[in-house]
Amino acid sequence: MRLVFLGLAGAGKGTQALVLSETLGLPFISSGDMFRYHLSQNTELGLLAKGYMDKGELVPDEVTIRMILDRIGQEDCRKGFILDGFPRTLAQAQALDAALDSGPVNRVLYIKVGEEELVRRLAGRISCRKCGTPYQLDLLPPNASECPRCGGELYQRADDQPDVVRRRIQVQWPEIHGLANYYAGQKKLVEINGEQSVEQVGADLLKTVNGRI
Ligand code: AMP
Repeated sequence: MRLVFLGLAGAGKGTQALVLSETLGLPFISSGDMFRYHLSQNTELGLLAKGYMDKGELVPDEVTIRMILDRIGQEDCRKGFILDGFPRTLAQAQALDAALDSGPVNRVLYIKVGEEELVRRLAGRISCRKCGTPYQLDLLPPNASECPRCGGELYQRADDQPDVVRRRIQVQWPEIHGLANYYAGQKKLVEINGEQSVEQVGADLLKTVNGRI
């Protein structure tokens, strides 16, 4: 089972993909988390990515594609995987299709949320520095400083500041459109209403995925 999550920043992809990966026992692969990990380790890739990430722009395709294809070529991905944040461009989607000659992507789960709701959510989002899990500030206990999942430090991502958020949405919107059309053409796209409760979105996703197994 190879699944791809599609949606603008703040649509809830990360949260839902993580839950689904635990439910299905498949590795969860987030390109954004991988870049942030490289950044925290000061690797060459991390330093290269930083310049783009800080501005809310995409890291070049060549670098991103190599990083993800390396990851999905690892042993734990043989029975499948869940991708979050990749592909983000048509070139990335085509590279993924070309690499998956033993079995293509099965489903592309497109979580749709309106722009105003996205800006509101991201301004109130904090993330765990260790495991990457995102949280809504108003759903956590007051003054919470540790991740309820792993105890890691909670912080606001530099690219969740409102002006960078708007830039990210501007950059992502046409790309998401192109990708949705690409996967709709392959009859793999499923649209999910992301403005429902977290539980309802999760239930809709599971129904969609179970229909395929
Ligand atoms: P995310 O956590 O998915 O919002 O990603 C954070 C940042 O990492 C993005 O704003 C990009 O700079 C970079 N990034 C993540 N995934 C990709 C991708 N598939 N292609 C290019 N850049 C990416």
